[in-house]
Amino acid sequence: MEKKKVYITRKIPNIGIELLKKHFHVEINPEDRPLTKEEIMEKVVDKDAVLTQLTDVIDDEVLEKAQKKTKIFANYAVGFNNIDIDAATKRGIQITNTPDVLTDTTAELAWALLFSVARRVVEGHKYIKEGKWQVFSPNLLLGQDIYGKTLGVIGAGRIGKAFAKKSLGFDMKILYHNRKRDEEFEKELNAKWVDKDTILKEADFISIHVPLTKETRYMIGERELKLMKRNAILINTARGPVVDEKALVKALKEGEIWGAGLDVFENEPEVEEELLELDNVVLTPHIGSASKETREKMAKLAAENIIAVLSGKEAITPVNRV
Ligand code: NAP
Repeated sequence: MEKKKVYITRKIPNIGIELLKKHFHVEINPEDRPLTKEEIMEKVVDKDAVLTQLTDVIDDEVLEKAQKKTKIFANYAVGFNNIDIDAATKRGIQITNTPDVLTDTTAELAWALLFSVARRVVEGHKYIKEGKWQVFSPNLLLGQDIYGKTLGVIGAGRIGKAFAKKSLGFDMKILYHNRKRDEEFEKELNAKWVDKDTILKEADFISIHVPLTKETRYMIGERELKLMKRNAILINTARGPVVDEKALVKALKEGEIWGAGLDVFENEPEVEEELLELDNVVLTPHIGSASKETREKMAKLAAENIIAVLSGKEAITPVNRV
């Protein structure tokens, strides 16, 4: 019997590719760039499964092409805002993601950004590299303490909760905001549910961990930034469009907030020009889940989802019910 066909839109760690090759005929985009929508449409027509990246737009038009054959799109990410889930469900196509395996890794990057901004790590690095350091100075690069402050988590799901949990050594007060309260989390970490405006007004450090949806797009804009404390630091490792980037630049330039740590941007890979000129930001190129171990786990999980679905079993981490 002819082997089923799987297409991988970008090279992923070998562990996932090898796993798929044991069962299927595997084709991989040979180039180190995302495919255009037209290229994806061309590739899906004869594939039983497609392993996608968050940069691949899988809309109804792509799904229509895929519907004749493709049973599953396995997204190599926990977020799935690049896929039209309702359209996939209507067309009976399974969508899967890679939750849990990247939770702690992404939470760690949020902490890396918070520490870097609060303690001005990148500015210090630049200062030495540029040969400016002459002697110890009592007033050089004064940052702010992290311990004892109030931490605000917007979107205390898997990653948001892991982020909050990692504050335990720092004696912090934890505020969080979700649409639904999570009593178990409240008990475990002595966290307090508050509405969004209260977090903005009271937290010293705010980390965003909501998915990108119609509701969360521009969740943090000019009004919200104005509510924040002047010493506040905003961390975004969720999705760029959750924050109005232009409004953020204005708030950072005018000293309405202390700083920001950003792993995600409104129009990746483009970054608001003025952000690049500011010293009170630390920017990373969407590397939240980018540890060697985690990327391997994501590759394995995406591959296992494809193997399960193409062998007639339930998906391991389904996003939709088909
Ligand atoms: P999750 O477990 O689904 O958590 C999302 C949280 O957001 C939930 O607690 C949810 O609670 C809350 N939420 C959703 N809509 C909300 C709204 N309108 N207002 C307030 N809270 C809302 O997801 P996760 O695994 O933690 O991942 C979160 C996001 O992180 C992903 O969707 C992805 O975009 C991003 N991410 C980025 C990277 C990176 O590389 N930078 C890596 C991994 C993930 P309620 O339902 O109760 O509101």
